[in-house]
This record gives sequence, C-alpha cells and structure tokens, in this order.
Amino acid sequence: MSPLMFELSQLIVSCVRWPEQLPVVFPFQGPPYFPFVSWASRTPDIIASTMGPSIHRDYGLWISYRLALFLRQDQVEQQSENTGILEFGCITCDTQPCLNTCPVNAYTSDGFDRKSCFNYLDQNAESECGTGGCLARRACPIGENYRYLPSQAQFHMNSFERSSRQFYQEES
Ligand code: SF4
Ligand code: SF4
Repeated sequence: MSPLMFELSQLIVSCVRWPEQLPVVFPFQGPPYFPFVSWASRTPDIIASTMGPSIHRDYGLWISYRLALFLRQDQVEQQSENTGILEFGCITCDTQPCLNTCPVNAYTSDGFDRKSCFNYLDQNAESECGTGGCLARRACPIGENYRYLPSQAQFHMNSFERSSRQFYQEES
C-alpha cells in the first residue's frame, strides 16, 4: 500500500466525528487480512463484476474499501441481505466493454492476467492506461460520473501494480 493512502486513511479516522469510540480496522492490517470484499458483498448494492472487482449499483467499479467501523446491532438500520440476484450492472450489460477494451486482453473469463497487464504497462508507460488508469475499468458504463480523474487513476494503478508485485515478490 502506498504511504500516501495509509496517511489518508489515518487522516479520515482522525477528522471524522464518529458517534463514539468505535473499533476501526483497515484493509492493509495483516496478515491475516480482514475480509473486506466479502463483508461488502453482503450488502444488496455490491456484487462481483464480470471483470472481477466489486461493482456497486450506483458507483460502478469506482469504489474502494478504506476502513471498516464495527457498529453494534442497535446502531444500524436493518438492511436486506444480498440475495445474490444481480439486478443491475453486468447482467444487463450486453456488450461488456470491460472484456474487450484491454490492449492485451488481460481480463478474460478465466480471470485477470496480471503479468500481461504489467508487462504492457512497463513497455508502454505513455499509453492511455499508463497515464490515465485502466482502460477496461474506464470502459464500464456504470457509475460514469464517479470515474477517477486521470491523475487519480494513474496513482491508484501505480499503487496497485507496486502492491501486487510486492505480494508476489516480483521484480519491477
Ligand atoms: S462493462 Fe458491463 S460487464 Fe463489464 S463490469 Fe461494467 S457492467 Fe459489468
Ligand atoms: S491497465 Fe491497461 S493493460 Fe492493464 S488490464 Fe487495464 S487496460 Fe489492460
């Protein structure tokens, strides 16, 4: 994780007035790591997308999990659990542009081909994805108004690549 993202997450915690001293956890705490993705998928508004990452009903692929607050049962409004029925997003997306926009077809039905993506980025630093974020992600029509700005997308793309290489102990 980028030190900047770490500091930003800490800053959010220090600035926001929570109702009381609530326990807070972060996705970068670990190992073992907290299951942020499966926690999020329990809501009726988030589900795994065709390309893999979570997709939100309104924000599309432009969501991130920065921290989690633990609330007591009496502090939350009762929400219906995710039924697993995808009523939005990918099931109504006939053209699925996320799967046919990547220049090296890194997103396939078999999953994300991380090495092809990173090799392409290494050799094409000035390409659209190198300077403005993942083309496949940007091709998704859901949550268009929440797309990251190019510089913001580039920052997260670089951070993702760095973290991924560290995790798999690869040289860049
Ligand atoms: S482009 Fe279509 S199939 Fe791909 S993630 Fe977005 S909604 Fe789902
Ligand atoms: S960043 Fe570019 S090369 Fe990598 S998956 Fe996205 S579109 Fe493909």
